Amino acid sequence: MASHAFDLIVVGGGAAGGVAALEAAEAGHSVALLTKSEPREGNTRYAQGGVAAVLSSQDSFEDHVADTLRLGCELCESSVVTEVIVGGPSVFEHLVDLGAQFDRDSNGDIALSREGGHSLPRVAHARGDATGAEIQHTLHRALSQHPRISVFPHQQAVDVLFDPEGCAAGVLALDEKSAALAFSAGQVLLATGGSGHIWRETTNPIIATGDGVAMAWRAGATLRDLEFFQFHPTCLYVAGAARVLISEIVRGAGGVLRDRHGERFMADFHPDAELAPRDVVSRAVFTRMVETEDTNCYLDLSEVDGDPHSLFPGISRFCRAFGIDIASDPIPVRPGAHYQIGGVRVDLDGRTDVPGLWAVGEVASSGLHGANRMGSNSLLEGLVLGVRTGRAIAAAGRAGAGITGSTDTHVATTPTTHSVTLNLQDITYSMKSLMWRHMGVKRAGSGLAEAQEKLAFWAQVVQELAPKEARTFELLNMLTVAHLATTSALAREESRGVHYRDDYPDRDEVWRCHTLLRAEHDKDRAFGTQPTQEPVGQASVPTS
Ligand SMILES: Cc1cc2nc3c(=O)[nH]c(=O)nc-3n(C[C@H](O)[C@H](O)[C@H](O)COP(=O)(O)OP(=O)(O)OC[C@H]3O[C@@H](n4cnc5c(N)ncnc54)[C@H](O)[C@@H]3O)c2cc1C
Repeated sequence: MASHAFDLIVVGGGAAGGVAALEAAEAGHSVALLTKSEPREGNTRYAQGGVAAVLSSQDSFEDHVADTLRLGCELCESSVVTEVIVGGPSVFEHLVDLGAQFDRDSNGDIALSREGGHSLPRVAHARGDATGAEIQHTLHRALSQHPRISVFPHQQAVDVLFDPEGCAAGVLALDEKSAALAFSAGQVLLATGGSGHIWRETTNPIIATGDGVAMAWRAGATLRDLEFFQFHPTCLYVAGAARVLISEIVRGAGGVLRDRHGERFMADFHPDAELAPRDVVSRAVFTRMVETEDTNCYLDLSEVDGDPHSLFPGISRFCRAFGIDIASDPIPVRPGAHYQIGGVRVDLDGRTDVPGLWAVGEVASSGLHGANRMGSNSLLEGLVLGVRTGRAIAAAGRAGAGITGSTDTHVATTPTTHSVTLNLQDITYSMKSLMWRHMGVKRAGSGLAEAQEKLAFWAQVVQELAPKEARTFELLNMLTVAHLATTSALAREESRGVHYRDDYPDRDEVWRCHTLLRAEHDKDRAFGTQPTQEPVGQASVPTS
């Protein structure tokens, strides 16, 4: 097997991995940055609304902190919230220094929009609704020009590798033809983004399959709050079209939701109507779809202040391809899996509880979002904590001691040949439908238990019968994360933030705590683990 050696391996080149890699490289580290497909593909690229940060004199850190805590439903780690929000302006300047161009008002100041949950306009954007593309493009340019960073596209990391002391010391990756390559290093950073693709309806690109969470789990890291997954209320719903997100800024600018009879309904669900928190809007849309026996609701932009085509050029272009003129036609929308709030439990510097293994961005659970993410706080998190994590890794400066082997994982246990041919696509679709039905916007104990059982069965079948190639490992990761998230959702017998249970519709103080999943290191651990609770405020992880 071919191999490469570096000081640091960063798995993922989105906002979080990108800034972390640059920071570590600036401190003198040699960095290998692996991406699963094209270097610019990931959730970052598709972010529309923008980056929330305190950038105007009318705003204050206190207000941004208060809004974030309110939306997080008492599950935020307040020290993390403060740290991330206070770090906003400097990381924003850092991006501008790297060449990112944000939209400005007529005075030359950064133009700010308002999104749901924010008490005033504080969301900076680029080219209207192309903020993520601008950030991704800027970072990619800086990464590819840096003399100490080597970017390896189309390398799917499969598992963490360890040195004789049990410290993370590299990753095993597969290229497009499933040929294996070992990357060794003193430190490994997971920045693999989210897992939206375990659901049938999602705004995420296809790389979002939860690989980093599953890798961290197999490596023995603790996971936190996987039951909290945010659904975006307004995704374009046209058969055959990608579930493109219709950003919240559209509702912020005056777009309204209607049902099939043309009736506005959001005021029946929340005093802030269309600008209610996303979980409220998602449940309202879902409820109204069921009540009116429709497959979707409609977003009406006819009363938006300004020309929708120039305000939202990307959305306009995409809708036009399907014959929808956003200025006059109602846009069919329904909720879609959008943002993974839980993830690998980390401290403020991105440390997991596995020595040498770090995580940042959507793959990680830093404690910023609590039980509900406020729009545009996630790019902020990835950027601020990405810089912090890159610096902490550089300071840790551990030299690799050499790799001994991978975690037990599928690599060791999946047979290469078998007489039965599995239809992996069929299992993938079945998993996505199951997750949509039982782990979606609304959940209940009986459905969650059924999902848990089926996911465990499919995982076992895939593990035993599927060929040892890239798509098998990806599917096993999705099944692992789906199962672990369902296990966490079944354990949390209350409704809080984005986690809503029909059988426990109220918030319960007993559950004002995080849900932890700890790997117990028996071979069946993914499918037999019992979650435990961790009180809010005790989030520091053992240092590695
Ligand atoms: C449509 C959409 C709109 C959004 N709008 C906003 C917004 O306006 N504001 C906001 O704050 N947030 C928004 N978000 C969320 C935000 O974009 C993400 O949370 C954030 O970009 C995540 O950044 P990241 O660096 O953690 O991961 P990503 O940007 O997703 O990057 C993940 C990286 O990991 C790599 N990777 C994954 N698995 C592997 C593997 N096995 N091996 C190798 N590489 C791997 C990928 O190739 C990619 O490079 C939006 C998300 C979506 C999908």
